[in-house]
Amino acid sequence: MAGYTPMIQQYLKIKAEYQDAFLFFRLGDFYEMFFDDAISASKELEITLTGREGGTQEKIPMCGIPYHAAANYIDVLIERGYKVAICEQVEDAKVAKGMVRREVVQLITPGTKMDGKGLDEKENNYIATVTDFHNQSFGFAYTDLSTGESRTTVIEGRFDDLFNELSTIGAKEVVIASDFNSEWQKNMKDRGIAVLSFEDQIEDKESSFEKLLTILKDHQHRETIARLLNYLYRTQKRSLDHLQPVEPYEINHYMKLDYYSKRNLELTETIRSKGKKGSLLWLLDETQTAMGGRLLKQWIDRPLIAKTQIEGRQQLVGTLIAHYFERQDIRDRLKEVYDLERLAGRVAFGNVNGRDLNQLKRSLEQVPYIKQIVSSMDNETMSKLTQRLDACEEVTDLLEQALVENPPLSIKEGNIIRDGFNEELDTYRDASRNGKSWMAALERKEREASGIKSLKIGYNRIFGYFIEVSRANLHLLEEGRYERKQTLSNAERFITPELKEKEALILQAEEKSISLEYDLFLSVREQVKEYIPRLQALARAVSELDVLQCFATISEERHYIRPVFSDERRMMITDGRHPVVEKVLDSQEYVPNDCQMNPEREMLLITGPNMSGKSTYMRQVALIAILAQIGCYVPASEAVLPIFDKVFTRIGAADDLISGQSTFMVEMLEAKNAITNATENSLILFDEIGRGTSTYDGMALAQAIIEYIHGEIGAKTLFSTHYHELTVLSEDLPMLENVHVSAIEQNGHVVFLHKIKEGAADKSYGIHVAKLAELPAMLIERATAILTELEKGDTGKPNTAVASGSIKVPAKQEALSAAEEAAQLSFFAEPNTVKQSAATPKEKKVL
Ligand code: ADP
Repeated sequence: MAGYTPMIQQYLKIKAEYQDAFLFFRLGDFYEMFFDDAISASKELEITLTGREGGTQEKIPMCGIPYHAAANYIDVLIERGYKVAICEQVEDAKVAKGMVRREVVQLITPGTKMDGKGLDEKENNYIATVTDFHNQSFGFAYTDLSTGESRTTVIEGRFDDLFNELSTIGAKEVVIASDFNSEWQKNMKDRGIAVLSFEDQIEDKESSFEKLLTILKDHQHRETIARLLNYLYRTQKRSLDHLQPVEPYEINHYMKLDYYSKRNLELTETIRSKGKKGSLLWLLDETQTAMGGRLLKQWIDRPLIAKTQIEGRQQLVGTLIAHYFERQDIRDRLKEVYDLERLAGRVAFGNVNGRDLNQLKRSLEQVPYIKQIVSSMDNETMSKLTQRLDACEEVTDLLEQALVENPPLSIKEGNIIRDGFNEELDTYRDASRNGKSWMAALERKEREASGIKSLKIGYNRIFGYFIEVSRANLHLLEEGRYERKQTLSNAERFITPELKEKEALILQAEEKSISLEYDLFLSVREQVKEYIPRLQALARAVSELDVLQCFATISEERHYIRPVFSDERRMMITDGRHPVVEKVLDSQEYVPNDCQMNPEREMLLITGPNMSGKSTYMRQVALIAILAQIGCYVPASEAVLPIFDKVFTRIGAADDLISGQSTFMVEMLEAKNAITNATENSLILFDEIGRGTSTYDGMALAQAIIEYIHGEIGAKTLFSTHYHELTVLSEDLPMLENVHVSAIEQNGHVVFLHKIKEGAADKSYGIHVAKLAELPAMLIERATAILTELEKGDTGKPNTAVASGSIKVPAKQEALSAAEEAAQLSFFAEPNTVKQSAATPKEKKVL
């Protein structure tokens, strides 16, 4: 250290406190980075790496970016999961004795980003915190700094339960104690939560905490929240007045959907592209505001389980469906509403300009209209919402009086505040305007006196006001009255004492008015800050209205109906459809299906060839249940549903087929998760469980799982399988029924009807399909013979086929699979095979 120059020493001292961040070190008009930071930043940002003398023999690696362009570079680094510490000069270089003092004024991290690229307007940006209570429970809290919303809960359970919550909110960053279990830390990183931050300060010393923690008497909650807030105050180093009181919640007040299930059901993103397009969220998103978009995602992530709450939402959706024109009006008005939540956040953070405040004003101006439309619907349930639409007129009035129509981006160059808002400002403006008309009069006077028509009075920053006369006319000027100031190629510029005197007055007035405008703007901003809680409450009401109109719009457009909830664990879906597949296919083509389940019929074993629609059917049932429990209508002609406490899925994705053993492990883990957590009020979807291992092994497991759920849990279960042998289980298991997806033969082709029917699928179906696919006749014959052999050994229970001895079990698994694959070609057919052999263009799903 000693060898370095004082500036590098200062740098190193600050850097030591921000080891895990890029330190943007302000030097004049640049942010500079040194040493390893410089080397990595030059790569990440593709900027030139240079060197700087720093007192030692070798040059210090360095790279820099102009401060006015920093925002873009910061966005790039944050998006890649880095942190950036902004270190500014905190005293005026002119008055500083020795080194200018520098301090980090803000640490920007992926979880604390307030604006800019990488902050999806329809998605929350959450930073979470976890406290390990060392008794299989965790304190959990999260905040979206851009909207000010915070929630907290205690998670009873293991790391997986914690991870579910983290993935539900899509945490961008997790704040933990430095001694947090290192294996879990690694696990979080492995599972995609790249940014971990440490905070050991857990006492709520900040006085502003009290306001946020009013409802949290529980010490455990406080510890968790205090950790998060301390981290936020420590890194942001500024007013966080927009943080809303922390809202405690209970995980079991919502339908439990674990990480796998959400993924499998493609609720908010698809498995393949990991994008929103093709997900349930994509289908539903008819919201008109960014806030509504975020709330919609939150609702999908946490379906309700309280019937009254769900029915409350349904009722509002119903009213909105019934009032088509009002709904269109509401949609039009909502389009004009900006992101009130994030605007409020930025008001508190102190980074709004005149344009932002005008957006706020324009948004607020919509509220009285919206309110009027909503109340015109004259409905009891609507009236509650009407009351919550508080237009904050004081803010609108203030902004209307204070701000000009089109303020500039900068808040430091004037032209923001309206005439008549402040007397002092008006006086300055008058002075400057008077001065300017005085100048115009002077110009006329001078022209007349000299007879020079082209004489003009101009202004520039360096010389101020001047009288300009072209070279040709110079001889017309009165001698001795004008002082030469600047010579141009064909003109001369002059000043007079009178001109200088007036100029001083004008410039003074302008300078004063600009600085006064800045002060006035800050005071307007401070006044708006007082309204933040009301603005946030309004934002909440507007976003709810937005999501409800979105449900109404989708439900009407897509012909959804209002589901009824049964208290007797009954499910009766008539003509149900998969909402997304239906939209992607032409609706005409989608084949609706019923689903009947009740306490005497808890489990359905679904058989049928590959590509016939088994997993679409299963997903459809789950999606209908989820849509119903978020308060939306559902794609069916009639639906009676139980309220599910949890939904579990094990649905093989296409990519599962590629990898081997580890996928089977995932399959077993998902199965375990369902089996250990499901209750009789849960819904389980198991698609081809056991497929990832050898036949007998897999079949045995599948049977055991079915028996276990049947005997021990009683959850509503849809179980699809290609083990035809399992269909006999219905004889012994009273609550298990067979259903199958039918297909017919048409002109020598098999046509999938995608229709679910009672009973098991035809046993020799696979060989039939293989024949249609024109596999060699010899092979077909052989397959038929093997099947007959297998059937002979079949005493009614699938497992007895193993013991019968009537068939020789091949020593190698591959040999068996080959024979089996021939016998069950259709079950294993790749989608390609199906497409290639599609012969008649009219019949689309043809093998
Ligand atoms: P399986 O699980 O039996 O292999 P899938 O559920 O994956 O079959 O369905 C295969 C394809 O069939 C789907 O991609 C979809 O396009 C189509 N399909 C499924 N169900 C229906 C339906 N009810 N109506 C129309 N097409 C359907």
